[in-house]
Amino acid sequence: MKITVNLHIDAQGRDVDGSSYDAAPSYAGAPHLEVDGASCARCGSTPLRVAGFKGAASTVTTADATYTACGCVACNAHVGTIKREASSIFGEEEDARVLSGGWRVY
Ligand SMILES: [Zn+2]
Repeated sequence: MKITVNLHIDAQGRDVDGSSYDAAPSYAGAPHLEVDGASCARCGSTPLRVAGFKGAASTVTTADATYTACGCVACNAHVGTIKREASSIFGEEEDARVLSGGWRVY
């Protein structure tokens, strides 16, 4: 699984063409992600820690990734979007079908 965070909300809350950064939980089971090499556009918090943002319509799932609006843990500002890419062969849904066995007729 690969996690990146696109920081596309600027200090004034406008949607801009942001940069993507690698992100990972600060420690096993952490309720937030730490974003490598980034700081918060609003409060300047470094390292930037983000979690799902409750104020935005939050999660969109496609065949190969899940996108979740995220906010800065320090100041609660909406800062961007978390992208979680499935590390799958055919996409998570198809993998589940394939790996759960059973014959398929094509
Ligand atoms: Zn902040």
